[in-house]
Amino acid sequence: MKPYTRPELDSLPAYVPGKSVPGAIKLASNETTAGPLPSVAKAIAEAVETANRYPDNGWVELSRSLGEHLDVSTDQIAAGCGSVSLIQQLMQATCNAGDEVVFAWRSFEVYPVTTQAVGAVPVQVPLTADHRHDLDAMADAVTDRTRLIIICNPNNPTGTAVGRAEIEAFLDRVPDHIAVALDEAYFEYMRPGDQLDEIPDGVEIARSHPNVVVLRTFSKAYGLAGVRVGYAVGDPSVIKAMRVVYVPFSVSSLAQAAAVACLDAQHELLDRTDAVVAERARVRDALIAAGYEVPSSEANFVWLPLGEETQDFSARSTEAGVLLRPYAADGVRVTIGDPHENDAFLAFATTDRAAHQ
Ligand code: PMP
Repeated sequence: MKPYTRPELDSLPAYVPGKSVPGAIKLASNETTAGPLPSVAKAIAEAVETANRYPDNGWVELSRSLGEHLDVSTDQIAAGCGSVSLIQQLMQATCNAGDEVVFAWRSFEVYPVTTQAVGAVPVQVPLTADHRHDLDAMADAVTDRTRLIIICNPNNPTGTAVGRAEIEAFLDRVPDHIAVALDEAYFEYMRPGDQLDEIPDGVEIARSHPNVVVLRTFSKAYGLAGVRVGYAVGDPSVIKAMRVVYVPFSVSSLAQAAAVACLDAQHELLDRTDAVVAERARVRDALIAAGYEVPSSEANFVWLPLGEETQDFSARSTEAGVLLRPYAADGVRVTIGDPHENDAFLAFATTDRAAHQ
């Protein structure tokens, strides 16, 4: 039979998520270890009772609540089936075939695949030697075909972050007809300290830059990875276009109810991020003491730039019952879990270092 799919898709890899192995400790997908709060589980259970009805396709309650929390109007908010969906919508809303999307590399693996899936061209700008976005090089990479630039802040998988002043200096160099997405999937884990004088809040930056679109998710700090809901904040014009390309009803009524309940319990959920931040420092210090290079992280994971050792290290860790996320011959990303999960990883990593030095 003659193939009827677009030939350019043949060479694109499908997104490969972190592995799960029964009984193993999973530090591969940046999830939270704790399940939903009782109030959130209750909201989901109540939403099940009306699951015979379609969800609110305009996410009225969710955008009202987000609007209050973020101090933006509801026409500046789009919800999506996870922020991966919003990334795709933003590409569809900004790019025609052959247009260019600039982002750092290595960064979130969804960017190159989704860019090409919408017919656009990825322009990947290498990270600096210290694993950070090279914003100067990214501004230099802009051409008259550039329609979208993505800054992943903090960056997945390296955990490095760029500060507000750096972002604003970058925005000054970028023509304002180009959309700049700040992918803040791990926003809630950023803290002033080693890397940042202040938290670079994309929503604040977007107030004075209408071409900035902020992407956030309930999958990480809010613990709803399995429920699938994220949101975008931007100028009403881009939000309107993102709503046009939105797959109707793709934010389920369960997801909307869960997200609203999370915002109602925001303080309790954000308190949990403090425990992750403390564990992140403990894990990083222990790894450095064991002889690893570990860049300072602002996310719920740390990055080990192991180069050629990456795949073997990850295979040995799997054998030891701890699943990590290896990236080609670049490095391994390790999610910060709860203390006993982190201890299991540290026990492996310390012994492995001694055995393979
Ligand atoms: N952006 C980044 C940088 C991510 O790491 C992730 C999840 N791995 C996402 C977006 C997507 O998150 P979700 O679709 O679960 O909201």
